Amino acid sequence: MTARATRAGQLALQAAGAGLVAALGFRLAGLPLLEAPGWELGMAAALLGVAVGAPAGVLRARRELLGGSPSALRAFAGAAGFAALLQLVLVGGAALRTALLTPCSPTFGLAFVPVVALPSALAAAALGVLAALLARGRLLPTLLLCAAGLALSLAATLTEGYFGPAAWLLDPFLGIWPGPIYDEALSLDRRLLLFRLGTLAWTGAMLGMATALAARRRSPPGSARTGLALSATGLLAVAALRLLGASTGDLATRASLDRALGGRLTGARCDLHFPREKPAREAERLFRACEADVAEVSAALGVAVSPRVNVWVHRSEEEKRRLVGASRTEFTKPWLAEIQLLDAPGGPPALRHEIVHAVGGSVAGGPLGVPARHGVLVDAGLVEGLAVALEVPRGEWTVHEWARAMKDLSLLPPAARLVEPGGFYAAPGARAYTASGSFLAWLLATRGPGPVMRAYAGAPFIDAFGVPLDRLEIDWHAFLASVPVPPELAVAAEARFRPAGLLGRRCARETAGLEARAVDASREGRPERAAGYWRRAARLSGDPSDLLGLGDALRNWDAAAADSAYAEALAAAGSGWPSLRATLLESRGDLAWGKGDAPLAGARYREALSLHPDRARARRLTAKLAGSASPDLAASAPYFLGMGNAEATLEALAASPDPLGPYLAGRYAAMRGDAAAAIPLLERALSGQLPSLPFRVEALATLAEARCRTGDVEGARRDWARLERETDREADRERARHAARRCGG
Ligand SMILES: [Zn+2]
Repeated sequence: MTARATRAGQLALQAAGAGLVAALGFRLAGLPLLEAPGWELGMAAALLGVAVGAPAGVLRARRELLGGSPSALRAFAGAAGFAALLQLVLVGGAALRTALLTPCSPTFGLAFVPVVALPSALAAAALGVLAALLARGRLLPTLLLCAAGLALSLAATLTEGYFGPAAWLLDPFLGIWPGPIYDEALSLDRRLLLFRLGTLAWTGAMLGMATALAARRRSPPGSARTGLALSATGLLAVAALRLLGASTGDLATRASLDRALGGRLTGARCDLHFPREKPAREAERLFRACEADVAEVSAALGVAVSPRVNVWVHRSEEEKRRLVGASRTEFTKPWLAEIQLLDAPGGPPALRHEIVHAVGGSVAGGPLGVPARHGVLVDAGLVEGLAVALEVPRGEWTVHEWARAMKDLSLLPPAARLVEPGGFYAAPGARAYTASGSFLAWLLATRGPGPVMRAYAGAPFIDAFGVPLDRLEIDWHAFLASVPVPPELAVAAEARFRPAGLLGRRCARETAGLEARAVDASREGRPERAAGYWRRAARLSGDPSDLLGLGDALRNWDAAAADSAYAEALAAAGSGWPSLRATLLESRGDLAWGKGDAPLAGARYREALSLHPDRARARRLTAKLAGSASPDLAASAPYFLGMGNAEATLEALAASPDPLGPYLAGRYAAMRGDAAAAIPLLERALSGQLPSLPFRVEALATLAEARCRTGDVEGARRDWARLERETDREADRERARHAARRCGG
């Protein structure tokens, strides 16, 4: 064969390879989350970059060694160029599919791709070249060195992730693993840029080493000085970037978390880190709740000596994402008994849930402190199920009531899938958490903590319970069948469980990104801009709740435009989405009331009420309906519509002859933390005729809590007992019993 024919053959081969990669990109874009270029595609391209870059580096460096005057830079440039070109082809193929076959934008998340993908290809090419030069081109030692380099890097990354406080894993070769997947909107932030600069510095350091070696391999051998200097500079840059990251808080250390938060209370069971501006009384309450939760959870699980749990409570989503890499997703590292939470009025609602993970760590043992096959394949259904099972119900329904309603919708995942590694994440989060929570709560109640803890410590179900999983599942279903489902629950379950989650959304990352930008724009007081983002999100997702966002963004700026956005959303929702429709109708009612059209407002509120909204919304709608109709409650308009001076309004309401007046004023006082003012108002409200049972329940719960806060433990327990007798909801009873036990304890 002639040289030209060989060259042509090589070119044809390369073209065929590139075509294959483009086709692969096209195929990849057919998967959820990969449908538009973004972080996920960047990760796929990063892995391709490593798979191609390292062998290409090895081949080019070996060719250089054969020539007698080897150049590491030449070998690197060829290999890196080739790997980057293939990455480009992959991304091109994917973007083509995005543009041709989806409504998503091929450019929205494109900036992620080079940052996530390219440095991996460069680092891999440098590693390949360095390995070949170190091993003098001998193939087997070269490949072993390459593998060792990748393994060393991975080990360092995992070590840092394991012992550090953050949720992310950042590896020079394997790229950026941003932590919890439930954080929908990803951002290209300073941490990622710093990390990727670090990868480039590592690449420089490896290239410097390779250059020094190449010089020594020349005949006659040249000076290694330039290469060593380059290598030292690279290493210094790596160190400087890490120090910078630690000082800005972009690379989490426990010291940087505490610097940012500032507050700390340490006890026997809890080490609580919280925002320094948190009022001392609130911090003390949260600390006592934490200590009590650890004690209760330990007792429920039969853990004699519980670990001291470290809890960091962050002040905002942005700060939490910046410091530990997860904004809305709360997480625990059970093996460290460390919890990261977002603060909320009245304390972080997920505290007890995460404490179960932390305390469960000492039951499960193993490297991760969770039940896992082979130490790493986590049985997420057991882990999350146990935590949900030990929560105190937060809303109107118990976990069993939710699970039963899910069963009626034919959405309840089978237990066998839930308690198997991998199966848990195959179902949307809301379904998986609730179903495993109900199953575990039922197991705890009917079989006791013993077998549950044996399963948690790693025993197969059949050994832990003495009966096969199928049998347990049949019994669980029989139990669920006995749980009643009122119509309000069916509506709430439809809204909660029907959505398919992140994986089921069209252009999921783009839509989530647009929604996040819309929220930011509203916060910055730019309604027009926010409206633009909501419109784009709605067009992409086809989801009427994005039109609700649009209406909300416009509400205080252009009431007529807001009303037509709500109307559009109602039309889009058709006869589905009852919970969303109730929200939309309430908003339209508010707009009508604000314009002075009380009859129209009343009609909207009544229509919303007919859709069986959840209890809190039903109460609010009923109160608004009364407020818009009754002269005794006329003063409530500015309170409900969020206008005017709340203090003056509530003073007028407190004096109203209608018991709803003192009810509203009392709840407001309690919410503000003024328990002493709330008590007489709520007593007066309860002595009259409130519109319905849910109002009495809410008034009693608020009154009991206020009494407890003022130190009247007896009075508080009396009100909780009254609530327990009067309410028609099991969740209220559980909550009241728990609160009564806690109060004064
Ligand atoms: Zn959890």
